Amino acid sequence: MTIEKLPSCEDPFDSLLPVEEARARLSAALSVVSQTQELNLKDAIGRVLCVDIESPVNVPAHANSAMDGYAISAASIPDDGVSELHIVGTAWAGKVFTGNVEAGQAVRIFTGAIMPSGADTVVIQEHVSATDKHVTIDNQVEPGRNVRLAGEDVQRNQIILTKGTQLNAAEVGVLASLGINRVSVYSRLRVAFFTTGDELQALDEHAATKLEPGMLFDSNRYSLHAMLSRLDVDVLDLGIVRDNADDTRAAMQKAAESADVIVTSGGVSAGDADFVTQVFHELGQVSFWKLAMRPGRPLAFGQIGDASFFGLPGNPVAVMVTFLQFVQPAIKQMMGLKSTNPYTINATCTSTLRKSAGRVEYQRGVLANDEQGQLIVRSTGKQGAGRISSMSAANCLIVIAADKSGVSPGDTVEVQPFMGLFG
Ligand code: AMP
Ligand code: MG
Repeated sequence: MTIEKLPSCEDPFDSLLPVEEARARLSAALSVVSQTQELNLKDAIGRVLCVDIESPVNVPAHANSAMDGYAISAASIPDDGVSELHIVGTAWAGKVFTGNVEAGQAVRIFTGAIMPSGADTVVIQEHVSATDKHVTIDNQVEPGRNVRLAGEDVQRNQIILTKGTQLNAAEVGVLASLGINRVSVYSRLRVAFFTTGDELQALDEHAATKLEPGMLFDSNRYSLHAMLSRLDVDVLDLGIVRDNADDTRAAMQKAAESADVIVTSGGVSAGDADFVTQVFHELGQVSFWKLAMRPGRPLAFGQIGDASFFGLPGNPVAVMVTFLQFVQPAIKQMMGLKSTNPYTINATCTSTLRKSAGRVEYQRGVLANDEQGQLIVRSTGKQGAGRISSMSAANCLIVIAADKSGVSPGDTVEVQPFMGLFG
């Protein structure tokens, strides 16, 4: 007789699910939030477009001058020597010159002013000699210079932003430049989360908290809250849930009724005090993954009612790493965003990094430029999954592929900068 073995840290690596496979399964299981809404531009910052945006206008709307100078017809440029042109008026930004510019004539023009009809070239004021009535130009003037053409930046009917684009400063500026003040976006995703553990002690809201014997401050709720707050989602903090089936069930049910996504920390191993997996099996459709990664081997994923559930491990570094690698891309996908996975860059490692082959490791690193401006990365030192301080000492994760059995100084490594991960 053999005993059916539950997932544990001692599982052989070949029985573990590769990270890429977990990403693919996760992505296939998720759908974009179904509700949409129409918002004013200022209220839509951080939201995701649920439609393509076609430009209703040309930008710029009219050909205009890029410089202060004189608007002329290219026909007035002499073949040799100089030519004296008669000034027939002035064009200001916001004040149109309505006459026509004939050969032999010029209009005094300022940056941003609409090009008068008949003019196709602006000679900058530094390249002329002028009186009130006349301006003298030479044969060095280039036809068509210093004119911004209508539609040069954006053309009417051009798809300027596509569905799935997040509206940040640049996008909001583009939409405003087109005169668009109402946009259709996906509704905000609602994310409920709680931490689990009899050993967890909440921080006092108002004073320094004295830690009771055998207890541990609940740091995961703060790091989870911080990571969720960076995403444009509604966050619902359900507090600390103690290690028993009734409280865990009540919290999961409440979360499933009020949110699209549920995230928990702790209680997903196979110990007697690990109720998250047990109650999740009772209430939902479970995929339990033993991932070929470190930190963060156990990850419970699935559905409870209409909500997607993520049961993260308890160790503080494992919580952050699994959140950044799986929950954040999942939330971005559900928000309707086009690009979701963390991006990586290459850097030269200056430390020796130890690891076992067979799993991807996310080690904490410090990324910097060396004297030649090249990217280098060093380890923050000891890498235990409980060392939350290693996350704040770091500014990146060093991603070491499953097939590697270590890194030597001088090796090129893949790095995920926090600027991209938390930004
Ligand atoms: P668990 O998977 O529930 O056994 O949690 C593993 C370890 O992570 C625990 O022994 C704690 O040391 C730590 N831990 C769990 N939850 C938290 C939390 N909310 N904040 C800080 N540390 C935690
Ligand atoms: Mg626990």
